[in-house]
Amino acid sequence: MTSLAASDFGIDITSQRDLLATLERHIKQSIAHQRYIALVTCQIHEFRELKVAHGYNFANQVIRETYERLEDIARESSCIFRTGPCEFALILPFLASPSIAEIAANKICNTLREVYAIDSHSLHLEPKLGVAVSGEEAIDTGSLALLSEEALLKAKYSADFFVINHCDTLSQQDEDLDSAMWKAVESSDFELFLQPQLCLKSANCISFESLIRWQHEGAYISPEKFITRAEKTELIHPLTKWTINNALRQLANLPSKLKKLGTSVNISGACFSQDVLVSQVASAIEIWGVEPSKLTLEVTETVFMEDLSRTHDICAELRDNIGVKISIDDFGTGFSTFESFKHISADELKIDKSFVQGIMTDPQDKHIVQCMIDLAKGTGLETVVEGVESLEMLRELSKMGADIGQGYFIAKPFSEHHQQNWLETKARSLRAMLKITPYN
Ligand code: C2E
Ligand code: CA
Ligand code: CA
Repeated sequence: MTSLAASDFGIDITSQRDLLATLERHIKQSIAHQRYIALVTCQIHEFRELKVAHGYNFANQVIRETYERLEDIARESSCIFRTGPCEFALILPFLASPSIAEIAANKICNTLREVYAIDSHSLHLEPKLGVAVSGEEAIDTGSLALLSEEALLKAKYSADFFVINHCDTLSQQDEDLDSAMWKAVESSDFELFLQPQLCLKSANCISFESLIRWQHEGAYISPEKFITRAEKTELIHPLTKWTINNALRQLANLPSKLKKLGTSVNISGACFSQDVLVSQVASAIEIWGVEPSKLTLEVTETVFMEDLSRTHDICAELRDNIGVKISIDDFGTGFSTFESFKHISADELKIDKSFVQGIMTDPQDKHIVQCMIDLAKGTGLETVVEGVESLEMLRELSKMGADIGQGYFIAKPFSEHHQQNWLETKARSLRAMLKITPYN
């Protein structure tokens, strides 16, 4: 087994270059013997807190004991490295089958979760492990390292102690997209575009929908495409956290005369499978000091249908305890029953653009939109009509009693830098066109 350089001060940190060089050697040897190889990245986030609470020496003792525990369970052929202040990497070469990686991950978690008795303290640590394991195809060093880091990120946002990425299970295209997205999450390489929402009575812009954008290989790729992948890989959790924080940052940075504006953020169904959403929202509101009611979370009708009671409970907590608003997005596409609709805890109904766009040409669509507006009014919800593409549609929807309009006629989504300019020029000319009192 490769030993770490251990000094009186703790365990030395191995450079990424040395780790990759060793990994490369082991990949070659495992492939030559038709065996599998796994790279385990292990993080123990409590180290930092321990250092602050009990001092450097104490934290180093924890690190040393962690290393010794890993050494006790590792096989002769394995290598253990300390790769960061609170991170270890284990190379597990010559595996007879990929499933052995899972057995090893379980063993590591169980060992590290046993009580640590250091000085007079009893400690309980909660390790998080990311495991990448090779498959039938040859794998290169960088990809194995990236998949292991990516698995660690997934584990950090899940209730499990470890997540395993099997190198063969994804198509090369998905794998490339996931890896690029993982890097983009790490470096916050996304943008938020804003699309104005207009109060149809006053013609004032009252809010913006925040829509994520990502430039990959020189071109913007459809949010629907990468969000679908993010939902499958747990990346949706850090992505949602990023979106909420950036939408609130934008709001917090507005000049005081624009403080009345709100923002809405799309929340994927996958975010309701875990408990992190409520704490993510609460902490973002605290960080940016924004009035909670200025944030609307858009949840599609389909998500409510999939798990009504869980989604309802989380939305009720977000509304009642935190004070944010909930909007039922893409309404009309999910076929909710009146019975289930009655139980949804929301403030706003967002009528899907597929119905709105038909109101000038299809009497049935117009009738359906009118019914939805009436339903919303009768149940105390505001209505937002999306997909407003012409002045005629805007006027018609206003007559039909819709409260808020959004669509290409008002503005296509634009980058944050255009927001002030849009409010000062386009928003004014829209109001003038609609012959309504000026913006104040
Ligand atoms: P959505 O929530 O229904 O967002 C509205 C989409 O309709 C946006 O597309 C917007 O650009 C487009 N749109 C707005 N006005 C008009 C119009 O007048 N005509 C037409 N034809 N289209 C209009 P976008 O930005 O491509 O977003 C697509 C979907 O991706 C969104 O649909 C939403 O489901 C998802 N999405 C976008 N950003 C995020 C995000 O930050 N998080 C999550 N979870 N999903 C997001
Ligand atoms: Ca939306
Ligand atoms: Ca929508």
